[in-house]
Amino acid sequence: MEQEVYSLCFMCSVRCPIKVQAKDGQVRWIEGNPHVAGMEGSLCPRGAAGISLLYDQQRVQTPLIRVGNRGEGQWRKATWDEALDYVAEKLQKVIETYGGHSVALGERTQLATHVSKTFMKAIGSPNHFTHDALCKGSVNTACRSLFGYTDGQMGIDYKNTKHIVLYGRNLFEAISVKEVNNLLKAMEGGAKMTYIDPRVTVTATKAQRYWMVRPGTDLALNYALIHVIIKERLYDVAFVNRWVLGFSDLQEFVEPYTPEWAETETGIPAGEIVALAREISQDKPSVIFHYGYRGAHHVNEIHMRRSILMLNSLMGSVETKGGIFFKKGPGEVGGKPAAKLASQQFPKITVPRCDKVGTPDFPLPDPNHGTIQVLPFAILNEDPYPVKALIAYRLDPLMSIAQSALTKQALEKLDLIVAIDINYSDIAWYADVILPESTYLERTDCIQQANGLNPQMFLRKQVVPPRYDTREGAMILKQIGERIGIGHFFPYNSMEELVDWQLADTGFSQADFAAKGFVAYGKGPIFWDRADGLKLKTPSGKIEFRSSLLEDAGFESFPAYSPMPSPPENQFRLITGRLALHTHVSTQNNPYLNELCPENVAWINTQRATALGIKNNDEIEIASKCGSGRVKAFVTDLIHPEALFILHGFGHEAKRAARAYNRGISDSLLQENIYDKVGGSPAYHETFVTVKAA
Ligand code: SF4
Repeated sequence: MEQEVYSLCFMCSVRCPIKVQAKDGQVRWIEGNPHVAGMEGSLCPRGAAGISLLYDQQRVQTPLIRVGNRGEGQWRKATWDEALDYVAEKLQKVIETYGGHSVALGERTQLATHVSKTFMKAIGSPNHFTHDALCKGSVNTACRSLFGYTDGQMGIDYKNTKHIVLYGRNLFEAISVKEVNNLLKAMEGGAKMTYIDPRVTVTATKAQRYWMVRPGTDLALNYALIHVIIKERLYDVAFVNRWVLGFSDLQEFVEPYTPEWAETETGIPAGEIVALAREISQDKPSVIFHYGYRGAHHVNEIHMRRSILMLNSLMGSVETKGGIFFKKGPGEVGGKPAAKLASQQFPKITVPRCDKVGTPDFPLPDPNHGTIQVLPFAILNEDPYPVKALIAYRLDPLMSIAQSALTKQALEKLDLIVAIDINYSDIAWYADVILPESTYLERTDCIQQANGLNPQMFLRKQVVPPRYDTREGAMILKQIGERIGIGHFFPYNSMEELVDWQLADTGFSQADFAAKGFVAYGKGPIFWDRADGLKLKTPSGKIEFRSSLLEDAGFESFPAYSPMPSPPENQFRLITGRLALHTHVSTQNNPYLNELCPENVAWINTQRATALGIKNNDEIEIASKCGSGRVKAFVTDLIHPEALFILHGFGHEAKRAARAYNRGISDSLLQENIYDKVGGSPAYHETFVTVKAA
């Protein structure tokens, strides 16, 4: 029997709408949902490799309970009842001894996140973490400091832009299909791209203007751009006068940051900085300074992100076609969103988060996501209290948090580690119990509330039955919950029932998704009135260059720029990034993707390599304060001499993920666990490394 099912990809967190063809219970083909603008049949390579995830024999096939030491890889197969009873008993003991708050749960943000949050609220723990802080914690804080909205509540109108500036946002390799297609359409229509990165990426090769910036100096560049834009009055005067608070403070602050000053710091000629400021202002307000992901990751990241958002605001490119906008929810058109389990009434939690987010010690990061890089310190120091159990739900702290040796030390102190995962991730390998999750093609999932210019809802629909003895994450958490006395917070017996529960008040039913895979609340894009109708959520109702969020917490809105140090002699600044073939740390063992990219290599500048006697393809040893490892060298002119680049996500230690095992080097082994103490992002690019021929 042949079927066509509309669903959502989950080979990465973007969740592209897809159409899946199956025959006799086997998935044959996946393509982008043709009914969704920007998808129109296309997928990225990882999305296309979803089939090989489904049929991969190296994924976790049954529940497993550890029998040897942690990390040794000795397992016994268990039935679901046995594994769930085991987890419940251990968890109950931890909760009785140390309190519910001694349990932490970390996950990759996903459609069932409201279920995990429910689990944590029900046991009385504030320690729910998502991976968001690792990607963009300071972006979130920066957006709230200027607009009162998180970055997740904001969007970018690529399709109508006339000029986009990307700071290390390697859009054509770290792919989101709709974003790429929409930007390509804009570029076909004449839109320009400026790309800034110490490394020549695929995106750099598509740009009209590429700057090989000195690593870590994006902020200096932005201050000089702002200096020129204000001095030459290139900004949108009416918009700034109406909406911006603190413009004159910014004007005074950037006075010393001239293009000539920035040339010394960044290596970009002053004349070119002036030229970009003049050129982009011609196209305002349909221009974008991209505020999200990558770029320089340093302890000053909050200010780097704020400077980008200030540039957008100066261009007036806020809530306008071709600029950035605030996402609209169903309420804008009189609709109701899908219900979330986490909105139920729970017992009040009186302890702070273990990462201290939301306390005077770490006031500004978003408590909805937490800062998981702080978890190892909280566990090791038992400060503010002992954390004794971790549920790692498709988030791998060992490969995602910098300084994996320290993370391992912290994990050793835990009484229980449970991994809910599809693959043998490194954290699964290190866990006490692995509860195998069904892939996205084998499960119906919670509703995706897709707010944007035109609010919609999407449904991930099961295409084929689970191939192995796996379950949906939302069912797994419910079944643990039932065993520890919180089952009443999970009022469903199947994913279909949960979806019905979510849709009950929306006016839509599951049947409405059958024709196209989604439902729309309205008919077209909604922009607020820029003259008088921006619904900003800052205390002043304005775009706060002078930020009450920062200043009320005791931080400066405009701290003086600290020069970015060059690496000491014979050292490099370690920088990391992505390519189109892998998602973070989760796809390196995928049969198709592994074949295309089995390991990472270290990009090293030709002159620097020659001085060290290193030739292309030589094996080299990279060492930092935190660890060392070997990898092959890629000797090239396409990287700044101060930088050494490796792809994120390699160097896996789980032996049953045999294709990826011990291939390449892990960046988390080398990076130091330091972070932006204001915004909340890890400072991934603060680590210096030495390099020598192996
Ligand atoms: S960007 Fe690629 S991997 Fe991510 S959801 Fe879309 S198709 Fe899937």
